[in-house]
Amino acid sequence: MDNDKNELENIDSNIDYDNLKEETDTINTEEHFEENGLVAKLKDKKGILGVVGAFLLVLLKFKAILFLVLGKLKFLIILLKLGKFASTFISMILMIVIYAKMYGVAFGVGFVLLLLIHEMGHYLTAKLIKLDVSLPVFIPFVGAFISMKEEPKDAATEAKVAIGGPVLGSIGALICLLFYFISGEDFLAALAYVGFMLNLFNLIPVHPLDGGRVVSAISPKLWLIGIPIGIIALFKAFNPIIVLLLILGIAKVIEQYRNSDKSYYEVKTSIRCMFALSYFGLMLLLGLGITYIHGIHSSVIIQ
Ligand SMILES: [Zn+2]
Repeated sequence: MDNDKNELENIDSNIDYDNLKEETDTINTEEHFEENGLVAKLKDKKGILGVVGAFLLVLLKFKAILFLVLGKLKFLIILLKLGKFASTFISMILMIVIYAKMYGVAFGVGFVLLLLIHEMGHYLTAKLIKLDVSLPVFIPFVGAFISMKEEPKDAATEAKVAIGGPVLGSIGALICLLFYFISGEDFLAALAYVGFMLNLFNLIPVHPLDGGRVVSAISPKLWLIGIPIGIIALFKAFNPIIVLLLILGIAKVIEQYRNSDKSYYEVKTSIRCMFALSYFGLMLLLGLGITYIHGIHSSVIIQ
């Protein structure tokens, strides 16, 4: 028993408690006073109590070291907080590298930035109406997404978050067009074109797409128009992602007609009109933008 106690006391002395105490004083004064009281009590104890006490003392000192480390390395905590940005940042860089190799650095960077602007449109709208969402994550050849940590309470809430992306995304593409007018750089016209197309594609009224979510606050019947549009798109350019979107879109239609939660789709007429105006208005503007760039500079378009 005595041997055990000696071993534990040896560990104590190796920690260099006095130095540590001075340094932890500023970090955690209360902890320090408690320890002093405990040390005094333990010094008179023997046997099992002594061993347990010494062991407790080591634990307390370990805690003191932990506080010291945390106090000294505050940047570690800052890094941990940055952790949630890491998936956004890393996936974004990966996508930039891939697209830069395919289309050149300027276009690659610009394209991923346009996606980021679109996603931030969703993100900021969600934050504005206090809906908890994740930061965007980028998937090369697919796009980017933010995930909702809670379900929107009604179709109008879902539609607000959904339209935020294409609105800000279209503004981003429009800015590319303005910079093209100023600089005459072809890649900027190409970026504006791709940006308009990207946002228009996302407005197709098939449910997991932004358009499908927006029209849930106008009329879910519009999904029935979205599905044939998706099928036509599939015939024009086969893409497994469109197949997946169509499957999800059809599943949503079936779900809605089998088990319709009518209260979810109840939207005030004024809000319904506002969404209809924004949705069809934005589609019209994007269509005009695409036609315009086609006319002025078809040679720069990257298909
Ligand atoms: Zn979107």
